[in-house]
Amino acid sequence: MRDPQQGLDPELLDEVAFDTLAVRAGGRRSQEGEHSEALYLTSSFVYGSAEEAAARFSGTEPGNVYSRFTNPTVSMFEERLAALEGAERCVATSSGMAAILSTMLALLKTGDEVVVSRSVFGTTRVLFDKYLAKLGIATRWVNIANMTEWEAAIMPVTRVFFVETPSNPLGELVDLRALSELAHRHDILLVVDNCLCTPALQKPLQWGADIVVHSATKYLDGQGRCLGGAVLGRAQEMNEVFGFLRTCGTSLSPFNAWVFIKGLETLRLRMMAQCDRALHLARWLNNHALVEQVYYSGLPDHPQHALAQEQQLHFGAVLAFKVRGGRQAAWALINATRLFSITANLGDTKSTITHPATTTHGRLSEDDKVAAGISEGLIRLSVGLEDVSDLQQDLARGLEAVQ
Ligand SMILES: *Cc1c(COP(=O)(O)O)cnc(C)c1O
Repeated sequence: MRDPQQGLDPELLDEVAFDTLAVRAGGRRSQEGEHSEALYLTSSFVYGSAEEAAARFSGTEPGNVYSRFTNPTVSMFEERLAALEGAERCVATSSGMAAILSTMLALLKTGDEVVVSRSVFGTTRVLFDKYLAKLGIATRWVNIANMTEWEAAIMPVTRVFFVETPSNPLGELVDLRALSELAHRHDILLVVDNCLCTPALQKPLQWGADIVVHSATKYLDGQGRCLGGAVLGRAQEMNEVFGFLRTCGTSLSPFNAWVFIKGLETLRLRMMAQCDRALHLARWLNNHALVEQVYYSGLPDHPQHALAQEQQLHFGAVLAFKVRGGRQAAWALINATRLFSITANLGDTKSTITHPATTTHGRLSEDDKVAAGISEGLIRLSVGLEDVSDLQQDLARGLEAVQ
């Protein structure tokens, strides 16, 4: 007789493959025996007695207390994502930025320093440069692939390395095994933003990273509906992150957690199909006379093609290319498309097209844009699940408008 309230048999947790975990891990059922994971849309929970309430609050008895820090739907999402990343524990947060903020404030104090790759998400840059700096936590910026720069930036007070690999929009990588070895030689924690790959393509903890952060808003949801985030790693550090979240309220809503639980079930299928389309478009663009350069690690002439093959299961569904003719050409191309959504979002089943120099990277100074490789002719695509020949035709339509 099987226990109908049990989700995945715990003994199978270490045996079954990624796709099975994505559908089954973390699932549990109430006494109603529902097959699909339940949405516990409640802020608080009730107790049978004053004694029970006291025991729950003091933590001597496990169980739900208040959805800022205990909610069964949020827990199901956390357990499923932890199984997929191979992490001891996951702490879900209200957004990707809340995941990064919670991690940094849980682990750092005034006087500490962090080293961060220059090519991180724009808002992440502002978080480090403005808000963490205000607390006396300084950031040194390095080029993602340059190990000499990472090493030279290490000070006695350096506590954390933070990196996003592959970078957005230019698809540069860092060797995670080499970077984690460097970090650990100096007692530094390596934090990886795994948003662009997701565990379907890359598991940073396997390569030695200490902590993974996510914007669940992107591929984990996958259909552009909800904001959310997650922090994953060893119990030791995650207990600190959980303590911060419990007190400071960077918590995930149960409704959003429920959407992400469903998103995870199709994660690998979506990612692989979107990557296949991105690779097809990258190859096609690479042979187009009006395209000066394609930035995608799936192309054999990409300097880190071999590293991408080793570190990732596929090359990702974000790619960038530089069209001849600068901003005017790039804007003409974007305006002539009819299928791609003109938006800066990524990770959706709907393909999107962006002009980084005037949107996502518009706040950078001209010098910083040059240093980051954000040229006026650069266009970024986040490739979704539409038919690839329709997407190619839409880009052809765009490129025709350039001539
Ligand atoms: C979007 C994004 C974030 C921020 O996530 P939000 O959910 O929007 O707060 C962080 N890192 C990367 C790589 C992102 O793409």
